[in-house]
Amino acid sequence: MRWLSFILIMLLITGCQPKDEKSKSVDMYNASGDMLGTITFNEQSGGVNLKVKLEGLAPGFHGIHMHEYAKCEGPDFKSAGNHFNPEGKEHGLMHPEGAHLGDLPNIEADSGGLVDADLMLPEATLLDGKNSLTRGDGTAVIVTEGEDDGMSQPGGNSGERIICGTLTKNEKQEESPTDPTQYNEKQEE
Ligand SMILES: [Zn+2]
Repeated sequence: MRWLSFILIMLLITGCQPKDEKSKSVDMYNASGDMLGTITFNEQSGGVNLKVKLEGLAPGFHGIHMHEYAKCEGPDFKSAGNHFNPEGKEHGLMHPEGAHLGDLPNIEADSGGLVDADLMLPEATLLDGKNSLTRGDGTAVIVTEGEDDGMSQPGGNSGERIICGTLTKNEKQEESPTDPTQYNEKQEE
């Protein structure tokens, strides 16, 4: 019963918060701090749409994934943690027990190193909830040197992380006093 009332309180809290933006533009940087383009996230009825516009990549396919922490610290961007995986699945769009919620199809850079791709994250949202890309402190989106094979654990054997950007809630100067994750921790008895 305690959990039921907790869920009801959570619904009240999230219901009272102002509506989040349904579109976000994320600047993408390499390990040297050069901005290589932007990814625009749009909330849609079937999930979150990504419009990927990048330059300066090696021609060919590259992996792209949402990661669990909004921290892009070079040179390896390991600060962003693992792939965003709130449902505890295996990695890979072709894995029978996959995929991570943050797994995306590979993007392809043309002979000039340009990427212009349109992708979907069907289970994700920019609004509140377990699958929110902006929940807590947010998430990161990272492009890798190689392509994701869609099957290998934990990251599709896609090589080094080369370009990173952070996706967070609306720019607020202070932390929300009703952060649901903090509340959750205090509930432990
Ligand atoms: Zn994954």
